Amino acid sequence: MAEQIKGKKIQAIRGMNDLLPTESATWRRIENLLKQILNSYGYNEIRTPIVEATGLFKRAVGEVTDIVEKEMYTFLDRNEESLTLRPELTAGCVRAGIEHGLLYNQEQRLWYLGPAFRYERPQKGRYRQFHQFGVEVFGLEGPDIDAELILMTARFWRALGVEQHVTLELNSIGSLQARANYRQALVAFLEQHKALLDEDCLRRMYTNPLRVLDSKNPQVQELLNNAPQLFDYLDDESKTHFDGLCKLLDFAGISYRINQRLVRGLDYYNRTVFEWVTTSLGAQGTVCGGGRYDGLVAQLGGQPTPAVGFAMGVERLVLLVQTVNPEFTCSNQIDIYMIASGQLTNGTSVVAVTQRLADTLREQVPTLRVMTNYGGGNFKKQFSRADKWGAKLAIVVGENEAQANRAIIKNLRTGEQFDVAQSDIAQTCLSILNNVKGE
Ligand code: ATP
Ligand code: MG
Repeated sequence: MAEQIKGKKIQAIRGMNDLLPTESATWRRIENLLKQILNSYGYNEIRTPIVEATGLFKRAVGEVTDIVEKEMYTFLDRNEESLTLRPELTAGCVRAGIEHGLLYNQEQRLWYLGPAFRYERPQKGRYRQFHQFGVEVFGLEGPDIDAELILMTARFWRALGVEQHVTLELNSIGSLQARANYRQALVAFLEQHKALLDEDCLRRMYTNPLRVLDSKNPQVQELLNNAPQLFDYLDDESKTHFDGLCKLLDFAGISYRINQRLVRGLDYYNRTVFEWVTTSLGAQGTVCGGGRYDGLVAQLGGQPTPAVGFAMGVERLVLLVQTVNPEFTCSNQIDIYMIASGQLTNGTSVVAVTQRLADTLREQVPTLRVMTNYGGGNFKKQFSRADKWGAKLAIVVGENEAQANRAIIKNLRTGEQFDVAQSDIAQTCLSILNNVKGE
């Protein structure tokens, strides 16, 4: 047995992906863009641990949810404490906010990015380790902030060039009391039609009946056409709040579809819920989901604090960009490849000169990607390495150039060459690169 394990190839855990260098550039470009936009709205980053006490998620996400019932990675540590790999990041944010006194009588506009873990059946757009990018705002209760979050997400889509491929679904699920009243009416209705419900719905009917509205079963969806509508049970304040949100979105020119079956199933959600969905990714169509959760901070032991937020799955977003706007994806191309040959009179390799030139370039133009050839090789070999890295320019220094403090810059796209003084390299490279970019 031991022998067998020894010989077995160790592989990544099912549903947990490596992000390889070929794709990481696109991820970073997307992440940087989102971060830059969040920064432009004045939001601040929060980072919380990947592991939290299991009780946090049971209380925050709710016992009767898919996540807590069957998707959590829970284990006992060496001290017999039950810990869980975070299945989402809101709970940790709220826990940290309470713990550090960031929420009481204060306003916080936060964003986060990091891995989350759910034990699900892996498929395209659904993994066991995935990444969530999200926002949480505390201390504001009006619909204006809800509108800002939606406007911000709309800006993301425009910046990523996917705005034609996502649509906004919107709903209000009212106050806790309104939902309790609706819940009663819904259960009464479902009880009369038990025969048409599947096993999942029957189970949810008493534990978390609003989740029945989420059912993907067409027969159930048809039945629901005749069910009582949540909207008819909304309290007046929630109606006014929702109306305010719709007006703000209308003013901003954001189109949306009111979807009365959008509930997001978690007890602590109230009023606004929204999702951005796409038809371009197959079954895993929800790119971003969010809403108001005025009840959660108090539920976790803090002072009552209004809160609203959203989370998006980075993998789904990357897939969407790759599918509908491949021009946004990027490769690992570098800008300049340094090529050297020969020795200085004191016997030092000319590589030392290209290293120094490369460093000067990096200092003068920090955004440039400059690589130095190592491992020697004749010019032909070094040029072919430059091509392999996708370099746009090569800077070549041989013994003569080193002696004269000059270098040859070769435009690898056109073959043009320039013999320049080493002190003029940055300037010349930049002007050639500007032309290469514009071609
Ligand atoms: P779904 O209905 O697809 O299971 P969810 O309602 O469970 O989604 P949320 O808890 O709202 O998802 O998480 C926010 C976002 O995180 C989702 O809209 C989705 O983009 C992404 N997401 C959720 N679960 C996964 C997963 N297992 N793999 C990849 N992305 C995920
Ligand atoms: Mg899910």
